[in-house]
Amino acid sequence: MKKSPDDMTAMEKEIWKEEVLRSVAETRKKCQETLENSEKTRAKLRETEKASDEFEKKWQDFQDKFSETLSALATNIGSSIGKSVGGVFKKPEYEPKKMSPEDASELLKDKRNIVILTGAGLSAASGIPTFRGNDGLWTKKYKYCETPEELATLKFFKVHPEVKWQWTHDFYDLCKNAEPNAGHKAIVQFQEHCKLNGKQCHLVTQNIDDLHARLIQESKILKPTVTSEGEPGFGFTDSVYEIHGNLSYSRCFQECSKALKPVQVPDKELSLEDQIPKCEECKSIMRPHVLWFDECYTQELHQAETVQNIITADVDALIIVGTALATNMASRLVSNCLLKNILTIDINIDPACDYGAVVEVEGKSEETLPKLFSSFKPKILKCESNGKEVDKNICSKALKKNPKVYPTKLRKIAIAAKAGKTKSGKNKKVTSKA
Ligand SMILES: [Zn+2]
Repeated sequence: MKKSPDDMTAMEKEIWKEEVLRSVAETRKKCQETLENSEKTRAKLRETEKASDEFEKKWQDFQDKFSETLSALATNIGSSIGKSVGGVFKKPEYEPKKMSPEDASELLKDKRNIVILTGAGLSAASGIPTFRGNDGLWTKKYKYCETPEELATLKFFKVHPEVKWQWTHDFYDLCKNAEPNAGHKAIVQFQEHCKLNGKQCHLVTQNIDDLHARLIQESKILKPTVTSEGEPGFGFTDSVYEIHGNLSYSRCFQECSKALKPVQVPDKELSLEDQIPKCEECKSIMRPHVLWFDECYTQELHQAETVQNIITADVDALIIVGTALATNMASRLVSNCLLKNILTIDINIDPACDYGAVVEVEGKSEETLPKLFSSFKPKILKCESNGKEVDKNICSKALKKNPKVYPTKLRKIAIAAKAGKTKSGKNKKVTSKA
């Protein structure tokens, strides 16, 4: 028969405490697995049947309560035996370090699986107002609605689609005329560096302004967005997960198909009703390809399951740019990393995290991101005979003819660059600048 803690010697008590802690940690690990499995099942369920908003809310409540209860349980047990219980459900201490982008960059050097999460703050320097900011389009008054939140709902669209489309066309004009800023460019450069160096870099954006996708389209190294209408996956790329959609596309409101169509600038002479685009197939109205506040994420339209899998994978660094984490998936993604004490670089005017291993980089993202990523440039190749920069595609063509000329590193770059167009070029011996 087991002794009660009161009858134990000091040594036995220590051993007993360790055993209790181990079993609590194991139980919590199992609970975490259950939660993750439930999450996967839920994602599958949602794909096969369109569950109600209520379901999503209940699920979120359940998940929050489950985490809270376990966290409280662990803390109680820990404090009752005089030890803290480490693990996934206890919020790690919050000791944010303020750092320069250059110093934060050093921390990224050995990281292999990085997630970048961006929000409206990133696009502010491109002239696109943030949703909760006090400027620009969001404060413009539209008929029948009081607040921008109200305008961005399915409920509103069902009653006044012409007003929602009026707003959409205004915002579309704004985005179309905006240019990606230095922050967007630095991110693409870092993505290219990762791809060429066998690292994972997942870019997840809450922005609907198309600015990431436009830059990715110009990259010869990253996987481009499918731009041929009618092709499977048209409008999507896994070089950027646009979890809230993209305003450059629309889809059938009646869902006769989920295929995306490019948004067109309407004839402003027409009445607002006549400016609403119509489905070519079933003649019903089209809707913007954007996730509204009263809607749920899906795999097909928002790549929700894919992003969920990224969250639960072995991420070793997270970079948050210009987001207050006010939306569901973004906050889940971040809290998953914070709870695991994963390095989190927070580039926000108002820091978005309140626990975890957070590094705060102060400053505007269009200024800090180029510094953060400046040492992660894709390699520039130089021709040995004339010293000129060599197009990676020429390198790839030359490699085909004579693979022995190139060191392994260059061969890798050339193979990765194969995706782009091939220009004509002579079989020149090249060497890396770096
Ligand atoms: Zn249709």
